[in-house]
Amino acid sequence: MYKFLCSSAVALFIIAATTTCSVQKNSATSPMVVSTSEVARVENALASDEMRGRKTGSPEIDKAADFIAGEFKKAGLQPLAGDSYLQEFVMLRPRLGELKYTAGGIDIDRKNIIVITGQASLNVDEKSGYTVATISAGENLFSKAQSFAAAKKNTIVLVDTSMSKNFARLTGLKRQIFRSPFSTIFILGSTLPNGFKITTTHSFEEIRFKNVAGILPGRSRKGEQVIFSGHYDHLGVGKPEAGDSIYNGANDDAAGITAVILLADHFKKLGNNERTLVFVAFTAEEIGGFGSQYFSQQMNPATITAMFNIEMIGTESKWGKNSAFITGFEKTNMGEILQANLKGTAFQFYPDPYTKENLFYRSDNATLARLGVPAHTISTSKMDSEPNYHKASDEVKTLDLDNMAQIIKAIAESSRTIVSGRDTPSRVKAESLQ
Ligand SMILES: [Zn+2]
Repeated sequence: MYKFLCSSAVALFIIAATTTCSVQKNSATSPMVVSTSEVARVENALASDEMRGRKTGSPEIDKAADFIAGEFKKAGLQPLAGDSYLQEFVMLRPRLGELKYTAGGIDIDRKNIIVITGQASLNVDEKSGYTVATISAGENLFSKAQSFAAAKKNTIVLVDTSMSKNFARLTGLKRQIFRSPFSTIFILGSTLPNGFKITTTHSFEEIRFKNVAGILPGRSRKGEQVIFSGHYDHLGVGKPEAGDSIYNGANDDAAGITAVILLADHFKKLGNNERTLVFVAFTAEEIGGFGSQYFSQQMNPATITAMFNIEMIGTESKWGKNSAFITGFEKTNMGEILQANLKGTAFQFYPDPYTKENLFYRSDNATLARLGVPAHTISTSKMDSEPNYHKASDEVKTLDLDNMAQIIKAIAESSRTIVSGRDTPSRVKAESLQ
C-alpha cells in the first residue's frame, strides 16, 4: 500500500476436513491444496537478497518479472496479450523549462500554479477551451487531483485556498506521467484572473515499466473476467537498519504475488472456470500505482466482474489465524458473497477495520473501483501495528507461511461462485466514492 503520498518448517495442507462437506454441495470445485513449502519457495525467490528489494526501474525488478512470467508459464496460463506475459509500457518524466503565468500582462506568483502536461510547449488562455473545475474546502485534495489528472480532457482546476499548505505536494503527480494529449493545470485560488495566460515548456525522459499478466480463458462466461492481483515492486535498497539496507518486501507484497501464482496453478489444475480468470502482478505500486493504472486503462471495466487484489497477507490479522479483511466492504456485496462461500469453514473474512486509513483508495484496486468494478483488496496487515512495514526487516522469517497457505485457500474457496458465474457482485456506485 502506498504511503500517500507503502521462511519456516515445511508442512502439506489438505483442507479436506473442512471443505469436504461444502464440496459435496458443490461438485464444481475440489479442495485446494497449498503446500507451505510452495509458499516458502516462491517467497524465498521474490524476497531474497538477490532481488535487492525489487525497486521499480532497477535491474532486479526485471529479474522478478522474469521469475513471475516463468511461474505463469509453468502453471499453464496464456499470455494476456500477444505471446509474452510482460505488459510493457512507457511513462514520461517531465522536466520543467519555462513557466509564465500572467493576467493582463502582469506576472502572477508561480507558486500558485502546477502544470501537468505531456506537451513540450503549452500556451493556454481564455480561448483555449479548457474545462474549469474546482476542488472545494473539505474535499480530498489528492484523490480529486489524481482523478482530474487521469481524466481524458484539458482541465484547469481551481484549488480552494484552505488547501494552500498541501498545494505544492501536487507536484508529486508530475513525477512521471502517462503519454497523453491532455493537460491539467492546478491553480491555487477560487477564480481565474481575467486575461490570464499560461506558457510552459518541458523536456521529457522516457521510463519503461512491465506488468506481468496471464489468463485462463473461461467457458460459458468467457467474456466476463475475474482478476487476481498483487504488486511485485517494493522499495529496493535504502537507509541501512541494523546494518541491513535491502528492503526485501517479503510481506509487501511478495506475499500477494505468491498468492496470485499459487491461485493460477490451482485454477489451471481445476480447469473448470466459466468466467475468464486474469492473474496480474503490477509494477510501480510503491511509487503511485502506475502499473495498475496502465493495466486498467487497457481493460473495458464493464467486462470485469470482480477484482481480488491481494496485499500483505504474510502476518496474522488483528483477529488471529484463519482470518483477513476486505477493503471497501460496504461498497459492493462482494464481501458478503465471499463470506457466504466460506460458511462452515474455519476461515473468516471481515470488513476493513482501519477505515481512517483510506485503504480502499491506497492500493491497486482503486483505479478499477473508480470505474465501477467491484475491486477490493484482501489483507491481514495490522495498519496500526505492523512492525516491519516498509522496513529492511520485512523478510520471509517474519511471515507465518502456514497461515498464508490458509488465506490463499480461503481466497480460492470464497471466489468459487464468482468464478463459476453463479454470483455476480454489485458494482461500485460513483456516489459512494470520495
Ligand atoms: Zn504494498
